[in-house]
Amino acid sequence: MSEKRTDVNELGEFGLIDHITRGNKQHQKSTLRGIGDDAAVVGQGGQYAVISTDMLVEGIHFDMMYTPLKHLGYKAVVVNLSDIYAMNVAPTQVTVSIAISNRYSVEALEELYAGVKKACDFYNVDLIGGDTTSSPKGMIISVTAIGLTDSLDKVVYRSGAKVGDIVCVSGDLGAAYVGLQLLEREKQLYLNDNTITPDFSSYQYVIERQLKPEAAKAAYDYFKRSDLVPSSMMDISDGLSSDMMHICKASGVGAYLEEGKIPLHPESKELALEFNMDPVTCALSGGEDYELLFTVAPEDLDKIRFMPGAYIIGEIVERKDGLKLHTTGGNIHELKAQGWNHF
Ligand code: ADP
Ligand code: MG
Repeated sequence: MSEKRTDVNELGEFGLIDHITRGNKQHQKSTLRGIGDDAAVVGQGGQYAVISTDMLVEGIHFDMMYTPLKHLGYKAVVVNLSDIYAMNVAPTQVTVSIAISNRYSVEALEELYAGVKKACDFYNVDLIGGDTTSSPKGMIISVTAIGLTDSLDKVVYRSGAKVGDIVCVSGDLGAAYVGLQLLEREKQLYLNDNTITPDFSSYQYVIERQLKPEAAKAAYDYFKRSDLVPSSMMDISDGLSSDMMHICKASGVGAYLEEGKIPLHPESKELALEFNMDPVTCALSGGEDYELLFTVAPEDLDKIRFMPGAYIIGEIVERKDGLKLHTTGGNIHELKAQGWNHF
């Protein structure tokens, strides 16, 4: 007699989340939005919190060969703050939990926390707790971020995109992925010959986008200043294709993107080509850009036309029209969510 055993890779990340959370019941009236967005929304009576959690695992999400601990601490916080901004709320508190093997010294953890504190200072959030435990191998960092708000009116979900809305991103895409390719290449070269010292000086932008990303606080500030509420929003952590698909699914719409309008940094373009990769593919299927992907109603066009750093990349269409890329060569491509398999 054998029990059925299904490999988690058969479902993929999103399929797995759907599977294990199927039939999840909410018991509390104060749970206003549960699973399925960048952050959950809870609260009542004019006080609300958006809450998001993310975990970084050594060997999966970061490699100690090229990740300075201070940057790692910074990034672990920032990627969570990014999910709060993606709800159009400013983050206010974080908790940080770590599991560490005995390979890490007190000094190493001081470095990690110097990064955590730096991110807290920069984004004006408070570290309010966490948990510390041991791990048999490597390091795991889990961060929970909270953003308080007294109104639900400006909270933005993935599900609000409407046909005719304009699709925008808050900055260039693909650089973090290209940066990762560069770090991996240099790591291999170093492993083959450890007399080589990698020189990254001419590729600072992509390296920084990978190792020390920032959350799109400037975009949040601009929305607030210009009294603009996007109709839908999420942060780009898995690549434009996959994340656009999430907005389309949640909103019950399709989208039409213009390849030529997808913003790419010159350094990403140059380096992608050096790696024989298409820079646009890096933007579509790479990840970890932590820019905001958002839609706005057509009447708000003027407000985003002058938004610093933002780019208009397409339009929301009917669901039956699917998710399409209009290429610079004039062809229409169906975009597939690549997602990834980290398992
Ligand atoms: P993001 O990329 O914005 O961090 P994810 O893709 O990780 O979001 O998660 C999608 C949704 O699934 C979120 O609402 C998240 O809270 C939820 N989720 C992920 N893993 C689990 C889990 N193991 N149990 C319950 N909910 C989960
Ligand atoms: Mg997100």
